[in-house]
Amino acid sequence: MEEKEIIRIFEETGAILEGHFVYTSSKHGKVYVNKDFLYMFVLKVKLLCEIIAEHFKDKNIELVAGPAIGGVALTQWTAFALTQFTDKEILAVYSEDGLNNTKIFKRGYDKHVKGKGALVVEDITTTGGSVKKTVEAVKALGGIVMGVGLLWNRGAITSQDLGVPEVFSLVNVTFEAFDEKECPLCAQNIPINTNVGKGREYLIQKA
Ligand SMILES: [Zn+2]
Repeated sequence: MEEKEIIRIFEETGAILEGHFVYTSSKHGKVYVNKDFLYMFVLKVKLLCEIIAEHFKDKNIELVAGPAIGGVALTQWTAFALTQFTDKEILAVYSEDGLNNTKIFKRGYDKHVKGKGALVVEDITTTGGSVKKTVEAVKALGGIVMGVGLLWNRGAITSQDLGVPEVFSLVNVTFEAFDEKECPLCAQNIPINTNVGKGREYLIQKA
């Protein structure tokens, strides 16, 4: 499936918003992808995860890991598709926040990572922080990361950035992001969206 068709799937869910946004990185920009909208449409999530699974089906993946919350749905659908494609039971686990800005596997999942070929999945990455911490959590437990599968690589994150053999992303479109002082939308006094991203926090802090 072509990139533009996948972007259309995002559009159909209302996940692509235009306006004046504050991203997690604290930079400002005109476009926001609200992944939470996508997750309401399970057939679309299933379809996207199948494309990732198809790509990695011959890589000896035994376990799919991703950062909560988005990673919960993604790991389930991707592991399900891989199980069907490979006729093996592929596990799905998710990472959560640990101490000192790390991701860790709780709930006994940690005991299932060692020695397994792992695929790490994430929805939309800008800095790649959550996915990188999940990669590191897998490695710390003795898992072997075979690759990373992304729905949207908004920050042009590379396999070198993440320390993995391969990054496969369904969409690679990046968005312009501005420092607050250089933001053309701020310069035009366009109101900041407070429903998504960090807009609300930004305005509270500013006040
Ligand atoms: Zn701005």
